[in-house]
Amino acid sequence: MPRSSGRSLGTRPGVSCAILGSVSTQTPSSSKRTDFIREIVATDLREGRYQTVVTRFPPEPNGYLHIGHAKSICLNFGIAEEFGGRCHLRFDDTNPVKEEQEYIDAIEADVRWLGFDWGEYLYFASDYFGQLYEWACHLVRSGKAYVDDLTADEIREHRGTLTEPGRESPWRSRSAEDSLDLLERMRAGEFRDGTRVLRARIDMNSGNINMRDPVLYRILHARHPRTGDDWCIYPTYDFAHGQSDAIENITHSICTLEFQDHRPLYDWLIDNLPVPSCPHQYEFARLNLTHTVLSKRVLLRLVNEGSVRGWDDPRMPTLSGLRRRGFPAEGIRDFATLVGVAKSESVVEVEMLEHAVRDVLNRKALRRFAVLNPLKVVIENYPEDEVEEMETANNPEDPSAGTRLVPFTRELWIEADDFMEEPVPKFFRLAPGREVRLRSAYFVTCREVVKDADGTVVELRCTYDPDTRGGSAPDGRRPKATLHWVSAAHALPAQVRLYDHLFRSPYPGSDGRDVFEDLNPESETVLSRCFAEPSLADLPVGETVQFERLGYFCPDPDSAPAALVFNRTLTLRDTWAKLQAQGRHEGA
Ligand code: ATP
Ligand code: MG
Repeated sequence: MPRSSGRSLGTRPGVSCAILGSVSTQTPSSSKRTDFIREIVATDLREGRYQTVVTRFPPEPNGYLHIGHAKSICLNFGIAEEFGGRCHLRFDDTNPVKEEQEYIDAIEADVRWLGFDWGEYLYFASDYFGQLYEWACHLVRSGKAYVDDLTADEIREHRGTLTEPGRESPWRSRSAEDSLDLLERMRAGEFRDGTRVLRARIDMNSGNINMRDPVLYRILHARHPRTGDDWCIYPTYDFAHGQSDAIENITHSICTLEFQDHRPLYDWLIDNLPVPSCPHQYEFARLNLTHTVLSKRVLLRLVNEGSVRGWDDPRMPTLSGLRRRGFPAEGIRDFATLVGVAKSESVVEVEMLEHAVRDVLNRKALRRFAVLNPLKVVIENYPEDEVEEMETANNPEDPSAGTRLVPFTRELWIEADDFMEEPVPKFFRLAPGREVRLRSAYFVTCREVVKDADGTVVELRCTYDPDTRGGSAPDGRRPKATLHWVSAAHALPAQVRLYDHLFRSPYPGSDGRDVFEDLNPESETVLSRCFAEPSLADLPVGETVQFERLGYFCPDPDSAPAALVFNRTLTLRDTWAKLQAQGRHEGA
């Protein structure tokens, strides 16, 4: 189970939090997962409170899903799977102003991609508008709700604060008959937006502001993507949510901590309405990640202001962005398991997500050769027209991935960084007079350095040892370095996009800054003269490979046969282990 290391984060306002610094690195599948919510579910089933566990994931279709939602999806669908129950996908579409069909489609695609299936249990809160309205009338008739003519500002003003009680609206004593009449006329479209609301009649002196006569319905003359112009009054989140849960026989309604103070209202409505079942709400801490913003409002601004190319930009923390970046769904699921489910807020280092993804890719990604910053090598003693097919492993971690043949010729591309004319100490790669191994091919020795008029190295003249085919010498000598390479005659030109954090600061927008000030101007670097081995021509979008020695890469949807484009998913270096060691050290 994840534990908090107790390193406090003084810089992030509004959240008293700790960095998760000492999480077990065992692979998630090897650890039996449990957490306080799973324990509640297990107890409820054991004690016979429910026969079947029913959860739901309730996104509002006002943006694309992000990695925080993935945590909630893995929790809700995961519990249903583990306990033999079911999980509903319910769109919480009660605010027609911000909601769009595009988001509904994207959300469905993302949940499926993440590996979950709601089967026939697809619902929309808007399907319940008729029932919810009847229940609103029921509350009015039983004296538990009234129509209020105060404006939104006046209601806010009457609401009081944490230290001051609220004040009753002058309309609070309105009779049930009058309120019912007005509610019907609100529904019939007689009144303008904002002129009246329906409020629950609970307690203006309650210590919990949510219980001070919360608004249940507001007038909104807006076309709804699903119900069209049928309605001009819409239920609030609080009125729609619990009742939708009850209609669907949800047993455990799991949400994030900000709804904890809404739970008494959730229960009050369930208690005071003739609902068909009694769901219970449980809250867990939302996911926060360093260098990342998970507010849909900010993500929408990034898209609208052109800071990124769209919701699926590979720098976005959206599921569509992570997918485009090459993150496998399995890595995201493993990450959700690794962070676990807790009751107090924390900020997780983004390196932990990268660690989980690397773990999957290291096991599964095929190895390929590509050169990002090319330098020409000519092997002088290799025949001009010869092509040898060199057998090389697809994944040394997984022999079942087999081998492939890579063409080797007299002219090759190697990485410019793999050569130094005057090698510094500890630089063991290619240098004048030095021999290195070309992976799965031959040993080569640099004989001559060719420069252009500016003195830039443009080509290396080398020789090879024909007795070292496949990468080993009969006399047992071993070069200190092994380089990757691509045959120049066969190389596929490619563009490669390197990605870094979208936000420079680990806590974007902390200390009163606008989050946009923290945008990393170098979050994307485009390399336009790269070379890839021939087999990369057919790599499908969605498949991530390792470019040997360089990192994990995947084809971008912009890629075309004549103009390949790859995104760097991640580098090879796992910085999470290092951070963990630091955490342990500080905690010690
Ligand atoms: P909004 O600001 O629009 O309410 P939201 O992020 O809460 O945004 P919803 O569509 O309402 O978006 O969220 C759907 C579900 O995902 C909710 O149950 C919510 O609690 C959960 N969720 C949202 N963000 C996170 C997060 N960062 N970590 C875990 N769960 C989250
Ligand atoms: Mg929400």
